[in-house]
Amino acid sequence: MPSAARAYRMYIDGKWVDAASGATYALPNPATEESAGIAPDAGREDMRRAILAARKAFDEGPWPGSTKHERARVLNQIADGIERRKEEFRALLVAAYGVEYLTHHVQLEIPIKLLRNYADLALRFEFEELLPVQSAQTPMGPMVVSSMAYHQPAGVCGMIPTWNFPLFVSVQKLGPALATGNTMVFKPSPFGPLVDLLLAEVIEQSDLPAGVYNVVCGESPELGIELTESPYVDKISFTGSVGTGKRVMQAASHTLKRVHLELGGKSAMIILDDYDLGMGGPSAASPTYFHAGQGCAMTTRVLVSRERHDALVESMSGFVKNFVKIGDPADPKNILGPVIREERRQSIERYIESGNKQGADLVCGGARPPQLPKGYFLEPTIFANVRNDMRIAQEEIFGPVVSVIPFADEEEAVRIANDSSYGLSGGILTNDTTKGLAIAKRLRTGGVTINNANNLLHTPFGGIKESGIGREGGIWGMREYTEIQSICWKA
Ligand code: NAD
Repeated sequence: MPSAARAYRMYIDGKWVDAASGATYALPNPATEESAGIAPDAGREDMRRAILAARKAFDEGPWPGSTKHERARVLNQIADGIERRKEEFRALLVAAYGVEYLTHHVQLEIPIKLLRNYADLALRFEFEELLPVQSAQTPMGPMVVSSMAYHQPAGVCGMIPTWNFPLFVSVQKLGPALATGNTMVFKPSPFGPLVDLLLAEVIEQSDLPAGVYNVVCGESPELGIELTESPYVDKISFTGSVGTGKRVMQAASHTLKRVHLELGGKSAMIILDDYDLGMGGPSAASPTYFHAGQGCAMTTRVLVSRERHDALVESMSGFVKNFVKIGDPADPKNILGPVIREERRQSIERYIESGNKQGADLVCGGARPPQLPKGYFLEPTIFANVRNDMRIAQEEIFGPVVSVIPFADEEEAVRIANDSSYGLSGGILTNDTTKGLAIAKRLRTGGVTINNANNLLHTPFGGIKESGIGREGGIWGMREYTEIQSICWKA
């Protein structure tokens, strides 16, 4: 049965707790507006307690000194625990986050695989990198010196994940942090803490020592501020918007914490002239239906040659009209669900209005579906003949809206793609892989997919420019959670 409307608790220092104030708040089901669950509404006092628990677990507990085998075992236990309660996670993702069945692979299956992958990386990661033996002259005479670069855990990590792919984003922080021996406090988004609270129930059942993993949630930004300002926290890993990311970095600078930022994007999909538009249409339209466009790496600017612009737009809108069924994601037949909150829907509507005002052609959508009076739904929306300097092409909309921008030639396509303050992702559709690779290398983004190929398990993920600092995933994600120490000794 779904966990709808049940009350969840926070997990601090190995204990289940409510907010010290006793406050709670209800999370709406974005498709029905009914309650999907109740979460504690914590304050700074609760956050301070969690930080001190994580500090104590790091400074005095066994976890930072645990063996790689213990870490791998616990990570696999957590993966097993999610696997056992998979249907509960699925129901919660649908009810509290409006997660459509089309996205369940990324939302649910991949996070389990990621945890197993981090278990494997815990075993394979080179914590001790031995360096060349060196003969050195010392005041006492010649000495042969051995040395290593040792990757010790970064310390107490403040984790601020987000709500759009909640289990995926949390696991991309939890996995490498545990694999490298850190302790942590999670501060999930006020829009979506329930998956983290359910995850805490799984973690409690594992052999992870008390205090290593803590989760505190609430509606107030004060919680995140306490975490980033605290002198007891060594590192912040933040996933969210650029504006908040900048505030996090500023606050963290007072204690010179390490900051890892996974921020927004305005990625471009370049469709080269050799690519069939019948095939290109559905993937070009994907931001209008894949989790209602609520994805940081979605290619929300579609670049196509001027001659093929109208044909592409026809292919995209034909696909959207014929195949994208909109409605409650509890029904697997529905491809497009709601956005997470009414305030988010209104923000998206303001962008649609700006697209209309700035002269883009609204090809389809742009309104609330009249047949769905309840829930935060928006029609899949395609703008054509967009100029790259329009707001809808420059700013992240985070809703089911895509902009088609014509280009004169491939040089201009690359220039337009790079003409963005963001640099998260990008896509290329072509039958010529060599050419695709050459163009990919010219894109100023943290990642590029050619013909929609992706590898969420093993590749690094993150952005350049205002899309962030640092990389999650694989060995790169592991490194983010370690401090490098050099140790030298007499051979
Ligand atoms: P947001 O910036 O509104 O909020 C993020 C979190 O920051 C929330 O938990 C909030 O409570 C907290 N917060 C607010 N003020 C704070 C402060 N001063 N100090 C510390 N914490 C504070 O973002 P959001 O709506 O949760 O997420 C949507 C954004 O996330 C989009 O821009 C999206 O592109 C981005 N995102 C990025 C990735 C990635 O990996 N690059 C993945 C998913 C989402």
